[in-house]
Amino acid sequence: TSSILWFRRDLRLHDHPALNAAVEQAGASGVVPLFVIEPALWDGAGDSRRRWLAATLRSLDAECNGRLTVRRGDPAKVVAQVAREQHADTVHVSRETTPYGRRRDERVTAALGDDISLAETGTPYAVGPGVITNGSGSPYKVFTAFSRAWQDHGWPAPAERPSRIHWVDGGSGDDAHELIADAAEGELDFAVGEDAAHQRWEDFLDGPVDHYGTDRDRPAKDGTSRLSPYLKLGVLHPRTLLADLAHKRSDGAQTYRTEIAWREFYADVLWHQPRSSWHDLRDQLSGMTYDEPKEAIEAWKAGKTGYPIVDAGMRQLLQTGWMHNRLRMITASFLTKDLHVWWPVGARHFLDHLVDGDVASNNHGWQWVAGTGTDASPYFRVFNPVTQGQKFDPDGAYVRRWVPELRHLQGKATHEPWTVDDGYAEGYPERIVDHADERKEALRRYESAR
Ligand code: FAD
Repeated sequence: TSSILWFRRDLRLHDHPALNAAVEQAGASGVVPLFVIEPALWDGAGDSRRRWLAATLRSLDAECNGRLTVRRGDPAKVVAQVAREQHADTVHVSRETTPYGRRRDERVTAALGDDISLAETGTPYAVGPGVITNGSGSPYKVFTAFSRAWQDHGWPAPAERPSRIHWVDGGSGDDAHELIADAAEGELDFAVGEDAAHQRWEDFLDGPVDHYGTDRDRPAKDGTSRLSPYLKLGVLHPRTLLADLAHKRSDGAQTYRTEIAWREFYADVLWHQPRSSWHDLRDQLSGMTYDEPKEAIEAWKAGKTGYPIVDAGMRQLLQTGWMHNRLRMITASFLTKDLHVWWPVGARHFLDHLVDGDVASNNHGWQWVAGTGTDASPYFRVFNPVTQGQKFDPDGAYVRRWVPELRHLQGKATHEPWTVDDGYAEGYPERIVDHADERKEALRRYESAR
């Protein structure tokens, strides 16, 4: 009988252990490539996020000779249904480790019953969450210790792509391909598909990675790999990147490996503490008081706070579905410390829009900024949006790219339109709060919560 490969966060054919397992098991009968549009994930997603997924699925469909089976609905029903239609006794997957994914897969396993099994091979990580523990078998709580143990543990070499795959069409839902084609309409900031991902990685490896240590903090430059959208959907696997990095000796390459380790660390934290996705990981700030300033939150979302670097970041997010890491920290700090809003409000907004939106990296990134996370930046570290802008975007190029009302300004003034006569000539909004006052207020709340 044919086997089924249910794609989730692994939309690729290279270095895909679960695909290899499905091919091996199916032999001449072939593999049914399945994707399920889950309303719980699809319906809430912002346009960019959905567009990226849809475009990537179309590319995967082409890689599968147009045989990608797409169904819409609750996976517990749909996956079992496809398996029965195909008389398959195994559904192959990469093991999912997020709280949502784990709950879903338990339900799917139950729905498959005793005669069909869910075979889990590999994960979206170089080392599966839960594997790295300290001498007494407990998870690491601090990043540097985790990172060292993770590097010492090492990871397997990339899996070879099967030389021949016989794809079997399992029959898509009535409007599934149309739904995807419609959602894929429109512009994307990232080239789509597995070949494009490999090309981007090769280009980055062939030079930029060596300057990554310094260039990564300059949002106006193309100084980071911009691979997060591919890693998110598993178009590239980190194992592939780590294998290539092993041939590089520069400091930049080592720094890059450490960033991959952050992704693995946060997934590991989430694995051990699923609750941390939407609750403070550490409870020492449980006495904090937060505000819900509706208008200010809307201004933050729309990129109209009156702080140029914050607004540039938020507009990049809205327009492209991606934001530079430095900006994620600055904008998150602004929401949590200048507007005194509890971090999940911002994390939700980011997840809805980011093409790389990932619950482990995003929500723990938010907790890091908010001071509630593991290994977090201390609460009293409040980013100053003006000095951050002047330091990391010294000539204002990043702000001018995203905030057209400030295109007439240059250098430091780009970050302080209130200091120049014609700063507001093009209609840029006034500051919604005074940073110096709000910083004091944040520290006051922190002191009384301790
Ligand atoms: P590069 O600098 O080229 O780094 C390479 C890869 O390393 C990234 O693609 C990513 O997979 C990983 N990485 C780098 N930095 C981090 C980090 N701090 N934490 C975890 N992994 C990291 N990353 C996401 O992938 N999805 C998210 O939803 C997400 N939300 C974030 C929210 C906040 C508030 C913060 C502060 C950070 C968030 N990050 C998130 C981490 C980081 O900002 C992005 O991974 C990075 O900007 C992606 O761009 P890049 O691929 O060019 O990164």
